[in-house]
Amino acid sequence: MKQAYKVIRPTTIPYGRQWIDEDDIQAVVDTLRSDWLTTGPKVPEFEQAVADYVGSEYAVAVNSGTAALHAAMYAVGVGPGDEVIVPPMTFVTTANCIVFQGGTPVFTDVNPDNLLIDPAKIEEKITSKTKAIIAVDYAGHPCDYDALRHIADKNGIHLIADACHALGAKYKNKMVGFLADMTAFSFHPVKHITTGEGGMVVTDDAKFAERMQRFRNHGITRDHHQRRSQGTWSYEMVDLGYNYRITDIQCALGKSQLDKLAGWIKRRRQIARRYDEAFTKIPAIEPLRVKPDVYHAYHLYVCQIHPTPLNADRDVILKKLHAERIGVNIHYIPVHLHPFYQNNFSTKPGLCPAAEKAYECLISLPIFPKMTDQDINTVISSIKEVFNT
Ligand SMILES: *Cc1c(COP(=O)(O)O)cnc(C)c1O
Repeated sequence: MKQAYKVIRPTTIPYGRQWIDEDDIQAVVDTLRSDWLTTGPKVPEFEQAVADYVGSEYAVAVNSGTAALHAAMYAVGVGPGDEVIVPPMTFVTTANCIVFQGGTPVFTDVNPDNLLIDPAKIEEKITSKTKAIIAVDYAGHPCDYDALRHIADKNGIHLIADACHALGAKYKNKMVGFLADMTAFSFHPVKHITTGEGGMVVTDDAKFAERMQRFRNHGITRDHHQRRSQGTWSYEMVDLGYNYRITDIQCALGKSQLDKLAGWIKRRRQIARRYDEAFTKIPAIEPLRVKPDVYHAYHLYVCQIHPTPLNADRDVILKKLHAERIGVNIHYIPVHLHPFYQNNFSTKPGLCPAAEKAYECLISLPIFPKMTDQDINTVISSIKEVFNT
């Protein structure tokens, strides 16, 4: 059967996308013409630039956000038998990185207001096997780091931030990247800045940084560049690592993108304000709550849709908006509901009721710095139409 809805735009407004300028392209081209395509000078330059931006001592760049989380799990020594506390309202890789190391993810429910891990539910999940908490700054809203730090210190476990949504966000005026023992970022094209694929872990701990540098390079103690500058050919593989290295080409792009980050977050916040204003008049659509003590980086703009007699449920609304060429999306299917986790870790529906209930009515609206005012108006007017207001 043909779609009954009219098509109003030739192309879809996506939920997120990159912004590449001529100077980004030039930075990549310059690197292509240089001596180093990988393990060259652009990698530490980009690492230093991100460390300076977030105020951390060390930064270790890798070739995806997933590799960043995996490296952090390796650095804290997660292994078979260990448990790591993780929220279900995230991308699968936040839990997968624990499994890569042989550990067990312990899914802990979220606060229904903002879908961030609920500190009040963590302590009951801590056992003698608990090694760490991974906090996810879902949508770009920093977690309650004071509460998380308190729990981590009291129980002698590590606090890791999956801040793949939250580069540039602040909690009580402190930058994300500065609040956990290690903080992971992603540079996938939908994230705040991009290197195509890429990721980074920032930390103030020299030991963690050193372990991650080794982990990204096969578990070898010295990389090619260091060997050359130190005039030695010898190297030792001291542990099992991976090739998680990022290229200089990517780091040149990342460094060029980073210069624009602050302005891009401002634009994301402006778009969010426009949505907030528009939806105060539509009771069926409720944006997630934002705490007053954070600077939200708005990787995602997430609302909950409350079905009323006048409008249909979330999935029908999603279809209608897609027909209007509005690229709305769902973030996320709670991770513990995926077959892999149900089959291998015996997770079941009912384990995290707040996340499961929220998932039924979540929707992410388009938000990215290159969105025009016209795009924003189009999204708002399509939503008004779909909700019959
Ligand atoms: C994007 C993302 C990651 C990392 O993804 P990569 O595609 O591997 O860079 C991790 N956690 C969350 C919450 C993410 O959104």
